[in-house]
Formats: sequence, structure tokens, C-alpha cells
Amino acid sequence: MDITVFLGAPGSGKGTQAKRLAQAHGFRHFSTGDMLRAAMAEGAEIGKKAKSFIDRGELVPDALMIELIEGALEPLDDNTRVVLDGFPRTVPQAEALDEKTLTTVRRALYFKVPTHTLIERLTGRRICEKCGEPFNIAFVPPKVRGICDRCGGKLIQRSDDAEAVVRRRLEVFASQNDQLLSYYKNVGKLTELDAGVPVAVLQDKLIQLLR
Ligand code: AMP
Repeated sequence: MDITVFLGAPGSGKGTQAKRLAQAHGFRHFSTGDMLRAAMAEGAEIGKKAKSFIDRGELVPDALMIELIEGALEPLDDNTRVVLDGFPRTVPQAEALDEKTLTTVRRALYFKVPTHTLIERLTGRRICEKCGEPFNIAFVPPKVRGICDRCGGKLIQRSDDAEAVVRRRLEVFASQNDQLLSYYKNVGKLTELDAGVPVAVLQDKLIQLLR
């Protein structure tokens, strides 16, 4: 398995980029946030356990997250190219991933974006309730207001994109990020990207990097 982890704050564009890589370039994309939201929608046990943490903008406990991602990676064969979006978020999660997959985490890409941009992106974000496609009412509006360009589904705001929860999510991110960056820097796997640029510009850069 060839694993690339996307690191960066909520709103740094990891999910948008990872979805495009999966749609057009054959990567398997795992977003732990999307997996948890799906589990909550289905009423699955892990979703029930995660809900109160997500609603408050806190991290879901490591043990639950590690179980979730191990279950997702286990069935994949060795040739699969994987993008992990939103995992790991703590050093214990990064360590568990390395233990599980030995040397297969190939690189960590850090999506760097100024905080004021993150707040604008998150509070303006809308996602399709059917296919998950992300939009932004200020920067990437849909062609028809409230409707997904891709599948015609309804666009909704995630409840944790409300401003108070966004601020807490950014604090939580800041409390873990330096240690996580050091973890990958120390093993020579970290690349920092300027992710405050337009989506298409960053996508071209990523395609070059992941070649
Ligand atoms: P995201 O969609 O990546 O912003 O994730 C939404 C929420 O899911 C986060 O605010 C956390 O509560 C939870 N979550 C997602 N991934 C993780 C993770 N790797 N570790 C802990 N909590 C997570």
C-alpha cells in the first residue's frame, strides 16, 4: 500500500483535494470525518460514540479512530494508492498507523492556510447531503443556489461548521499540529504546501508531487 496522509486544519482543503484525486486519478480516499458522519447517519455504534465529541468540536478518542481506520485499510491490496484525509490527527494515531502499516506511509503533506482564511472557508462551506461534494457560498458557489452541481442533491451546512464550533475545532487542531508535523518531519516524510491558493492550482501541484 502506498499511503499519503493529508495534514492540515479543518478548512485547509484536504477533503476537496482528496476527493478530486479519488475521482480523477484512481486514489482510494478515506476521510475519517465522512466515515463518522456516515456512521452517525446510519445509527451505527461508532457513530453514537463519536457524536458528542463531534458536536462539541472535540477529537474522538484515539482508540475508536484507530479501530475505524484499521478496519478500512485491512481489506486493501498492496498496490492500492491511498489518501488519508483527517487521520492521523494526534501522534498516537500516527504511531498506530506506522505500526499497522510498517513503512507504507510514504509521505505527509501539510496544507498550510492562514487562520482568517480557514474561518471564511468553514463558515461558508456547504456540502451535498447526497454525494458529499463540497462548495463554498463565497468562493466556489454552486451554479444553482442550494443545489449540488454534480448530482442535484441538496446542499447543507455541517452543524460543526457553526462559528463557535469552528473556533473550538481550530483550537483543538492547533494543540496537536506542531507535534504531528514534528513526527513526520523527523522521519523525512513531511512536505509543506501553500494551500491558500485556488483549488485547481493546488490540484496541479499535488498531481506532480504524487506522481
Ligand atoms: P472533519 O470532517 O475531518 O473535519 O472531522 C469532523 C470531526 O470528526 C472532527 O471535528 C472530530 O470530532 C472527528 N474526527 C475526524 N477525524 C478524527 C480523528 N482522526 N481523530 C479524532 N477525531 C476525528
